[in-house]
Amino acid sequence: MRLSQEYISIRGARENNLKDVSLRIPKRKITIFTGVSGSGKSSIVFDTVAAEARRQLNETFSTFVRNFLPRYAQPDADAIENLSMAIVVDQKHLGGGSSSTVGTITDIYSVLRLLFSRVGQPFAGYSNAFSFNDPQGMCPECNGIGRKIGVDLDKFLDTSKSLSSGAILYPEYSVESWGWNILIQSGLFDNDKALDDYSEEEMDRLLHGKPYKVKMDFAGKSVNLTSEGIVDKFSRKYITGDVKSYSERTQKSVEPYMTYGPCTLCKGARLSQAALGCKIDGYNIAQLAAMEVDELIEVIRAIENPIAAPMVASLVERLQHMIDIGLEYLSLSRETDTLSGGESQRIKMVKHLGSSLVDVTYVFDEPSIGMHPRDVHRLNELLQKLRDKGNTVIVVEHDPDVIKVADHVVDVGPFAGTRGGTIVFEGSYADLRNADTLTGRHMKQSTPIKSSWRAAKGKLSITNARANNLHDVSVDIPTGVLTVVTGVAGSGKSSLIHQSFLRQHPDVIVIDQSPVGVSSRSNPATYTGILDEVRKTFAKVNKVSPSLFSFNSKGACENCQGLGVVYTDLAYMDEVKTPCEICGGKRFKDEVLTYKFHDKSISDVLNMPVREALEFFDAKEVAKDVMRKLQALSDVGLDYLTLGQPLSTLSGGECQRIKLASELHKKGSVYVMDEPTTGLHMSDIGHLLAIINRLADAGNTVIIIEHNLAVIKNADWIIDMGPEGGSKGGRVMFEGTPQQLLDCKQSLTSAYLRD
Ligand code: ADP
Ligand code: ADP
Ligand code: ZN
Ligand code: ZN
Repeated sequence: MRLSQEYISIRGARENNLKDVSLRIPKRKITIFTGVSGSGKSSIVFDTVAAEARRQLNETFSTFVRNFLPRYAQPDADAIENLSMAIVVDQKHLGGGSSSTVGTITDIYSVLRLLFSRVGQPFAGYSNAFSFNDPQGMCPECNGIGRKIGVDLDKFLDTSKSLSSGAILYPEYSVESWGWNILIQSGLFDNDKALDDYSEEEMDRLLHGKPYKVKMDFAGKSVNLTSEGIVDKFSRKYITGDVKSYSERTQKSVEPYMTYGPCTLCKGARLSQAALGCKIDGYNIAQLAAMEVDELIEVIRAIENPIAAPMVASLVERLQHMIDIGLEYLSLSRETDTLSGGESQRIKMVKHLGSSLVDVTYVFDEPSIGMHPRDVHRLNELLQKLRDKGNTVIVVEHDPDVIKVADHVVDVGPFAGTRGGTIVFEGSYADLRNADTLTGRHMKQSTPIKSSWRAAKGKLSITNARANNLHDVSVDIPTGVLTVVTGVAGSGKSSLIHQSFLRQHPDVIVIDQSPVGVSSRSNPATYTGILDEVRKTFAKVNKVSPSLFSFNSKGACENCQGLGVVYTDLAYMDEVKTPCEICGGKRFKDEVLTYKFHDKSISDVLNMPVREALEFFDAKEVAKDVMRKLQALSDVGLDYLTLGQPLSTLSGGECQRIKLASELHKKGSVYVMDEPTTGLHMSDIGHLLAIINRLADAGNTVIIIEHNLAVIKNADWIIDMGPEGGSKGGRVMFEGTPQQLLDCKQSLTSAYLRD
């Protein structure tokens, strides 16, 4: 093989902030990209390498087929050579609704179905008979969903009241309303008796009574009307009926009165009674799918039927992959849209590990997210396994424990945005540790544990929490301090904080990684409100109307309506995005661009990175708010974003930090954050900690779910969940200061803190 084919070679890459970057990525090796957030790692790995691989793959199809595929633009680079097929394994959530489960998405469930169709007793036929997505297999009562929508009686009724005093909370029956009058005048009920005192029969008549005639006085005339049980009526209209035929507002207004309960026929198992009657070693397929993977693998291993052998082998291999990657606490029946980003990424890995493809380029985006330090070695083994099968593995990662398995490291920097976009180091892990780059220097440092702790002002109690795997957990969260919740993946951290705590204390600011910005026009300037002030400044200086400077109004370029780009819908293709020919991407009419503030047009300002804007604006000339908001963006490590960069281009970690920036000035609040170090380089984490400390110093209560040891060491208080994931977790292992955690023998986190 020619030497040049040993590398993927990239010349003159210029996507986003890249400055004519040229590099070679060794094939069939693990290459890890490091560098501060915004330095350009994704621009190389995703926007250049993966994008070109996808485009080249599409080019191999005939013109006819290509017409049905999305069209990808060529990345901005002089040459990209020796690519193989690339598979991007990212943290994007696996959608798919209730029909998509861990079992279906990994194909493990289809093997299980095959197994049941071959050796299940009594014999049930085709493997489709075990598919809850197939009419042959699904429970006829719930159509394979396992749940049925019902009326939430707790919300519908206040049973301590009588009908005349407003026992029915659903607005259609509020006191004096039309619906209420019909009930009251029907003569069927004791209007002054509290519902609590109703007999079974009276209650049944109220909720499920057959349609009955009611004579009513209406404007002096007697009219005949029909009424029926209030729950049956509601359910006929909004549950069994087509709720979609009502306005969105109506749909929203009735939603709170509905619940999702398990289906009464299949009890949540989703399958037909025939399928559920078919068993192997005493278990039906739904029972196996509900088991946690480490328990399931034992049941499968114990199957002795020789006809089953090939299917047993295949199941054991795939289930072992799930265990290897640290997902042993999940069950096959778990719906994929309830998985975290990190879990979704690991599920995608399992899928590829089972594949026999070779010479594929796998691209990972911070695969260590959501993993406890104890489990990171499992991830490393998996990356190595993929490589040893003959694949090229490319990883963007910040965790030194993952970086150390790299065959080759590419460090991008030196800083973010326009101050980044170059390669500052290429070589082995050993050489990286001696490199004089931000990454190299930080590889050798470690943060000490704090020696003094903030004192709690009070406490917020979580009592008898039982969400998911929590074993009746009661725990106090100290207020006015920084609490870090730790524990292995699946131990119950999110269940405790995002479900139980939020339910008991709803007045909490959750700063998560979900996308920000509702429209394609949202950007940091609009999101933070900076643009409103800047528009006023431009208007005042130029003596014109502020609305001219809004790209939502009359100053906007008419061709692109202020988007700067034009979307063209082509039959059978994804929308194609091209820069607007009229304004050249500047978004405004020429006339608007003639109005200047210190020689800059509004468009120039939108193209400024936050850092530059901080120098450009003078506190004396713009509202104080502008400087504070710019400073907040810079504080959370986003000083490389331009004011006009569409929010849709931000990563999950960046979204979390932009939300953090806009909440920073509040006092006396409770904040919840989930792995805020996502996407952050070791040097960025120092900045993040400074902000978090400022929040706590200002008297706020800060609760963070984190695996990062630097953050854990900086905590005032730690709640460690465990001991393991799933049913083996769900308990509080430790509460106290980081110093006390060091002495706690039964906590897994403790061991890693000591190292
Ligand atoms: P990293 O992956 O190292 O965090 P990125 O490659 O995502 O960095 O970003 C590098 C620079 O390019 C940053 O300044 C970022 O704001 C900018 N950038 C990234 N994506 C886009 C985009 N779609 N449009 C404009 N700028 C972008
Ligand atoms: P952590 O945040 O520590 O990773 P989680 O609270 O997400 O742990 O999960 C604890 C347990 O609850 C795990 O067994 C997980 O599979 C289960 N679990 C979490 N969310 C859901 C859900 N929406 N539906 C069913 N089980 C869930
Ligand atoms: Zn059912
Ligand atoms: Zn335009």
